[in-house]
Amino acid sequence: TAVTDVELIGKHEVLPNYIPRDKFSHKGQLGHSLIIGGSYGKIGAVTLASRATLSVGAGLVSAYVPKCGYIPLQTSFPEAMVITDIDEEKITQIKLDITPTVIGLGMGAGVDKKTIDAFEEFLKDNKVPMVIDADGINILSKNKVLLELLPSQTILTPHPKELERLIGNWKDDFDKLEKTKAFAKKHDIIIVIKGANTIIVFDNKLYVNTTGNPGLSTAGSGDVLTGIITGLISQGYNPLVATIFGVYLHGKSADIAVENYGYQSLIASHIIDYLGAAYLDLF
Ligand code: AMP
Ligand code: MG
Repeated sequence: TAVTDVELIGKHEVLPNYIPRDKFSHKGQLGHSLIIGGSYGKIGAVTLASRATLSVGAGLVSAYVPKCGYIPLQTSFPEAMVITDIDEEKITQIKLDITPTVIGLGMGAGVDKKTIDAFEEFLKDNKVPMVIDADGINILSKNKVLLELLPSQTILTPHPKELERLIGNWKDDFDKLEKTKAFAKKHDIIIVIKGANTIIVFDNKLYVNTTGNPGLSTAGSGDVLTGIITGLISQGYNPLVATIFGVYLHGKSADIAVENYGYQSLIASHIIDYLGAAYLDLF
């Protein structure tokens, strides 16, 4: 990897791309995000992602969940609209009567055969910008021909295990980066290698994030990241800028939150609560 192909991401790199909120803005201009995921006992993943999407500035958010998600979502997050599958406990088909601006897909969905089939059908038909996480990535890993169908600059946000399922194992960190670069280039996608110092890979370039801390090693923290990136695309950021800015804001929010909570006590909801502070810290 040539040094020129690596960029460190901090405040000065994200600030030029920041889109201010227009005085005359209307929620209809800030996009309608759709979050698809969840299964019995894992509706919280969708709640967190939906909440993060709206909290980062999207105009509207809808959540597509199995029937059992309806009451918990509407109750715990009234700002979201909820669309339900015909199945009580898992996603079995994805039929939409809305036209979303962007879709965040996969968190908490599980890998039931019917869910896999529904996701495969959906990925074949759908051409809207997408952020694919968690079981969405696992499904792509199992059926690699689906990768050919993804819209250009689709974003994948794997944690280490999900990355290994996707690209195979690696000898060392250098090998991991080279393999991820080649994979992203081949499929014309953006890959977010999550961890301490998250690295974003696109078009043979690496963007290394400088925000974030070990407080992020907690349940749901990745679901919040998916929601943030989705919500930024919703407002008009292009996929690469949304990914870089999203990873930055996620980490910065956690950096501000730990000042009050410490590493141990930080939970994923706090990342959402401090997104506003992360925005304000830009100026
Ligand atoms: P997930 O495993 O899908 O919940 O995603 C975890 C999120 O937390 C990702 O955004 C990681 O980059 C972030 N994260 C996890 N551990 C650390 C760490 N030790 N330092 C900084 N960020 C972390
Ligand atoms: Mg995750």
